[in-house]
Amino acid sequence: MNKIFVQDLLGWLDQQLKPALFQDYAPNGLQVQGKPEIKKVITGVTASAQLLQIAADKGADAVLVHHGWFWKGENPCVVGSKYQRMELAIRHGLNIIGYHLPLDAHPEWGNNAQLARVLGLIPDRADDGSGQPVVFGRGGLIWSGAVPGGLRTLADLGAHIETALGRSPLLIGNNERPLRRIAWCTGGAQGMFEEAIARGVDVYLTGEASEQVYHQAMESGVAYIGAGHHATERYGVQALGQAVAARFGVDVEFVDLPNPV
Ligand SMILES: [Zn+2]
Repeated sequence: MNKIFVQDLLGWLDQQLKPALFQDYAPNGLQVQGKPEIKKVITGVTASAQLLQIAADKGADAVLVHHGWFWKGENPCVVGSKYQRMELAIRHGLNIIGYHLPLDAHPEWGNNAQLARVLGLIPDRADDGSGQPVVFGRGGLIWSGAVPGGLRTLADLGAHIETALGRSPLLIGNNERPLRRIAWCTGGAQGMFEEAIARGVDVYLTGEASEQVYHQAMESGVAYIGAGHHATERYGVQALGQAVAARFGVDVEFVDLPNPV
């Protein structure tokens, strides 16, 4: 297995994911400095204390995640679970590397692209020959496309999602409603339902739900699916990890720590 400098990995990740293009809620890239060289990377959805302990036990030098630390509005003091996580990272020399919105949006490795792959959704593509996905909404984070052939109704799509993600989704709307057009945004994008409704789709899929989405679904006739924040965001960081392994020849291992939310 290869050994690489952290700076080389970070330079490449920034080049691929272009964090400067995003107005994000947390810093992207290196969040906590660790060992200067990397042989083994652990990837995961969230840089929780449990993930860091597993990374340390496996002898990793870096943890690459979708949900890192230092979110806007959180208590900045290094106390409680923030202290516990930082102490673990620093004691074991773990580099903590996080990419949030850039890893939702990436056209190939992003969470939206990878969820489409896992569920068989057929993304709309630009007709300019670039093959780029058609995106809309705040920050261009919502994708649209076609429901996989053979799935006619909300009930059909719900059953398909349950099989593909291993988790029963929340379905809001008429179960027998025929579906053709779908919009999706992984994670906690319940606040973008209105933009999806305005786009004229039959169903909107995201990870979480809030109370008001029930009424929005009932009043608009557009179905709503809450398929799990964690469950919809497991795939981007895995694809990115595979790309890192292919590019640098370092050992990359994904650790899934299931989360019911
Ligand atoms: Zn998320």
